[in-house]
Amino acid sequence: MLFRIQSEESVRSFIARNILINPKGFNKENLGYALRRAINSKRVKYVAEELGWEEKFGLNRLLYNHTYMVERIIIRDEDQRNYSLDQYGGAWEDRRDLDSALGYFCPDCVREDIDLLGFSYWKRSHAYDVKVCAKHNVKLIGECPFCSMPFHYAKHTFGSMWVGCNGRMFSECSSVANNDTDEFNKSRFYRDVCGYNYYISRSAAVKAIGRKISILPDSEILNLENDVGRRSKASFAIFRGLNNSCTGESLSSFSSDILYKGFKLYGGFSEFIAEVESISGRLAVIRDY
Ligand SMILES: [Zn+2]
Ligand SMILES: [Zn+2]
Repeated sequence: MLFRIQSEESVRSFIARNILINPKGFNKENLGYALRRAINSKRVKYVAEELGWEEKFGLNRLLYNHTYMVERIIIRDEDQRNYSLDQYGGAWEDRRDLDSALGYFCPDCVREDIDLLGFSYWKRSHAYDVKVCAKHNVKLIGECPFCSMPFHYAKHTFGSMWVGCNGRMFSECSSVANNDTDEFNKSRFYRDVCGYNYYISRSAAVKAIGRKISILPDSEILNLENDVGRRSKASFAIFRGLNNSCTGESLSSFSSDILYKGFKLYGGFSEFIAEVESISGRLAVIRDY
């Protein structure tokens, strides 16, 4: 018998929490082993099965709602209307870590969850490249406040969320207010991405962002372009209409770039969606696929 996976709970958190309370809770014993390894597609599939979530749909649902894969899969080509790439439904195995190897927590969320549920957990939206909590606007903690080790499956056990470290608990940590508006906006943008249930058409997203960029002064375009870094220059060229050949392989980095930069171009995620919808019409609900 397993505990329920909580809203926004990362797959690693879910496995660690269950194993801590009941080491035999999972039928597949290698899930304990998985905690010290990458959470690859095979292991995500195991967890979906243990949850009783139907194979392909369950796998996609877990990837979309509980891993950082959302950043790579929310923007899709028109003919790929399921949660993730079709490849995850087949026998092919993605050996990469599909869940964040790093853990971050917000002390205010920890206290709030304990008040509400009686326990806290690791949230996937805190493990993405954000530095502050979108709800409390306080800095996320990525190193153990009691021993200074980073939270990483190979370095500091994720179980410390429930057993503490050196006899002290995370709920004792005081929170530090964030004063960086950009970081707060980025966290909120990403939180909204995580909570979004519609498939975003890539071609409409390209047009929307291109339209937005085209009215910016040159100096701002240059700043943005420098911001995206070398890895993303190709997709930035696509936004600007300088390159129309977005290959399947660059789709995931393109998707990440929108999520990284979108918060700077738009007031918020809903403004971005409004612009996309003005081009593509109403967006399709992801769960229908
Ligand atoms: Zn918080
Ligand atoms: Zn520690």
